[in-house]
Amino acid sequence: MTQEQISLLRAIPIEDLASRLGLDVRHHKALCPFHNDHHASLSFNVRKNTYRCFVCDAHGDTIDLVRHLLNKDFQQACLYLSDGSCEPQHSTPLSPGRGAGERLPFDASRYAPFFDRPYLSPAAKAFLFDTRRLDPRVIRWCRLTSWRDRNGIHWLQIPYYDPDGNLIGIQNRNLMPGGEPRFKFPKGAQCGIYNLPVLNRLKEGEVLYIAEGCSDCWALLSAGHKAIAIPSATLLNPNDLHPLLTLHSKLLTQFHMYPDRDLPGERLFLQLKELLPNLTHHQLPPSCKDYSEYFVKVKRNGEL
Ligand SMILES: [Zn+2]
Repeated sequence: MTQEQISLLRAIPIEDLASRLGLDVRHHKALCPFHNDHHASLSFNVRKNTYRCFVCDAHGDTIDLVRHLLNKDFQQACLYLSDGSCEPQHSTPLSPGRGAGERLPFDASRYAPFFDRPYLSPAAKAFLFDTRRLDPRVIRWCRLTSWRDRNGIHWLQIPYYDPDGNLIGIQNRNLMPGGEPRFKFPKGAQCGIYNLPVLNRLKEGEVLYIAEGCSDCWALLSAGHKAIAIPSATLLNPNDLHPLLTLHSKLLTQFHMYPDRDLPGERLFLQLKELLPNLTHHQLPPSCKDYSEYFVKVKRNGEL
């Protein structure tokens, strides 16, 4: 599992997870399941998305809670969390597209105005243009905006649109180095395939790149390609790929991909290749773990 995927698992609301695991959470507290507790000693920190018992000192994040409560190792706990079986019924969906019918509707009218007049804070500009070297035109097309929460944390706000440009979801990305949680999603957000509006701009026989995650998608767009992003192998809902399948039959679209240089990346490629037989594999150089990193290196060397 990649760091991005693990961050997503750590972003599952901890109180919802605890309730799902059978704890009776009230006012950010519950009876501690790790010692013989009678006083609700287990506290939840919703901002950090962690738990701590002030008696037995049991503490940790979402993955730790599953590990200790269900007696699983790290990997099993991650699989458990990404499987969707623990998804809270009435809260932020972790795996986009799963548990449909259970989630609250996403209130697009509440969020859409943010993206009509995007604002990039100095922190957001530094991340997008200095660290990632992205093209400002791409950032405008993607309507990225930024905000600072009550705790002074800077977030990049990433809107998800359907092919017709209707807002269907939002992903918040923490801009503080090493900041946790790394991602946040408003209730009911559907963050399946990213950058769907580009599909309406595809010409017959044109190439469409498939990226893993928004960052790689912005880099591919900045390199002059047409690109969409899927969340990741574990979070991928095959139903979300439907628009891509029809594209191939309608427009003879050629699909291309630079899989991440790791096992999950290659696995994702093979999984997609089964659904999109004409998917072409591009190999990243050994020194680059993903396309964003490759893009930054190429920009630095002035090759693009
Ligand atoms: Zn305890």
